[in-house]
Amino acid sequence: MTPNELRAAVLNVKRWSRADQRAPNKPLMMAYALAKYLQGHDQLFSYANEVDPDLHLLLQRFGPARRVYHPEYPFWRLINDGIWRLDNAGECLPRKSNNDPPKSELIKYGVLGGFSNEAYSLLKKDRQLNIDLLNSVLSDNFPESVVPDISAQLGLELAFKEVNKRDPKFRGEVLNAYNGRCAICGFDARLNNDLFAIEAAHIKWKQFNGPCSVNNGLALCSIHHKALNKGVIAFSHDMRLRISHALTGGQIIDELFWGLEGKQIFLPRNKNFFPTGDYIEWHEKNVFHK
Ligand SMILES: [Zn+2]
Repeated sequence: MTPNELRAAVLNVKRWSRADQRAPNKPLMMAYALAKYLQGHDQLFSYANEVDPDLHLLLQRFGPARRVYHPEYPFWRLINDGIWRLDNAGECLPRKSNNDPPKSELIKYGVLGGFSNEAYSLLKKDRQLNIDLLNSVLSDNFPESVVPDISAQLGLELAFKEVNKRDPKFRGEVLNAYNGRCAICGFDARLNNDLFAIEAAHIKWKQFNGPCSVNNGLALCSIHHKALNKGVIAFSHDMRLRISHALTGGQIIDELFWGLEGKQIFLPRNKNFFPTGDYIEWHEKNVFHK
């Protein structure tokens, strides 16, 4: 295996059959292993002691909201992508109706998993390759404002690596349509006439083929942009603000969020620029923590 073959294999890992739907299980499993290697971890990870608790937390924080999280799925299923190794797995019998053994067996038999021998030795030899792959896996699956949070959780500091280039006109067009103010709170600070802390957000993420068009955009202050990408807020079909019941905080949170719940957001004058229902629905389904 060459470094380029490894790169291709990692980046081609199937997210899931439904390409439009967020399923960050495998990307987060790989990012976890790659990050730990950078910190000197050896090749294999214990499902019971490491992956089960740590990946659970990553999925809960950065994946779509679920009633139950399954860190065992990517840990087991990556074996099908040709870059993964499992040890002590012989006793685990996948059920007939399902390709995955239950989590309790992974724990009971002390199953270990990690990148394959070939992949691991390439990563070990070439730290930059390891960093590049980690960066690409994250940037390919999460928006720019979320990547630093995930890397911090992984114990690293990584910058977003532009994988899906933005249309350079996107920001200007969105900010113009919204008159340079946050669609949610109206924040419109300028310093010497330059806007600051106002950003053009994608409603449906670029990583999932959300277009760089004004009807997939919103002008948001930095706080509300992050809240959109983390699934703290969403919108009803008539563009009223919805807020995740998982959100807590003090008085400032009341002001920035709860006080605005149910209120219609500021929309562009031109109706053609209004956010499109499909994008709003994608975000609601794949990002919002109800
Ligand atoms: Zn705002």
